[in-house]
Amino acid sequence: MMQVVSEPEALRQARAALSGRVGAVFTMGALHAGHISLVEAARAANDAVVATIFVNPLQFRAGEDFAAYPRDLARDLAMLEQVGVDLVFTPDAATMYPPGFQTSVHTRRVSRGLEGAQRPGHFRGVATVVAKLFNLTRPDAAYFGQKDAQQVVVIRRMVRDLDFPLDIVVCPTLREGSGLAMSSRNAYLSPQARAQAAVLYRALAAAQQAYADGERAAAALVQAAHGVLASESAGHIEYISVNDPATLRPIKWVHRPVLLSLAVRVEGVRLLDNTLLPPVLNTQAGLTAVLGAAQGAALPAATP
Ligand code: AMP
Repeated sequence: MMQVVSEPEALRQARAALSGRVGAVFTMGALHAGHISLVEAARAANDAVVATIFVNPLQFRAGEDFAAYPRDLARDLAMLEQVGVDLVFTPDAATMYPPGFQTSVHTRRVSRGLEGAQRPGHFRGVATVVAKLFNLTRPDAAYFGQKDAQQVVVIRRMVRDLDFPLDIVVCPTLREGSGLAMSSRNAYLSPQARAQAAVLYRALAAAQQAYADGERAAAALVQAAHGVLASESAGHIEYISVNDPATLRPIKWVHRPVLLSLAVRVEGVRLLDNTLLPPVLNTQAGLTAVLGAAQGAALPAATP
């Protein structure tokens, strides 16, 4: 039976009753197959799985979609029960941030560029809530999605810097048949915009093709993606960027694995996507070895 708790004390008791290795998946709800793939990865490698559902106000800025963010707890719980989660934590904001709360976790350099530049304070909110959720759920391993690649880099930096005793596992982005990365925010898209939004994936595919053709200048890889986005004039490009996947430093010339990421507004909805280059690294093993890795970490043996 899946247990659902919303108070820290009840969580502590239920967590203490779980035996063996525990995997955790943290979500903001409005679950889709991408979230479920994280739960399945956690199930496969652990004795028990804890999931959390919490729309974290700290990571939204004024004017962002905190109030409008889709919420459907009954449906989410049914999905988690079906996939075999043992324990779900569904706190409210007053429980997570009671009066007097004033502590935050700030990872300086890795939260500066990309999403951090577009959404100041976002990663401070993310790192703070994830630190709390690590302490509350005490997992042996926590599962995060490639889709939010910078989030992975921020969390891993925090885990190393603050000595959280757990493993981070990174799971590949799940996509619709069109190639559109699954996201709770896709619910904001009209049917036409949803069809247009698949252009992000085609843009990544163009960069992957340019890489496969031997292109190693970051500007040319960006141009390959940009050409597709511009030719379909489907949205407003916020950034297309090539970065070191461990540190997120901008890269000019690709002689080691890189992260190519982009953010595009379609019908006013911010959509993110990314790929590692070489694309063969976009697997759980490749992503976990490379994204936010300690500098100098070895690549998995089977990858070029
Ligand atoms: P969210 O509910 O958006 O905060 O996401 C919770 C977790 O699910 C994060 O680790 C995300 O990176 C991950 N996630 C979101 N979308 C996908 C996707 N399409 N494929 C795999 N993981 C995802």
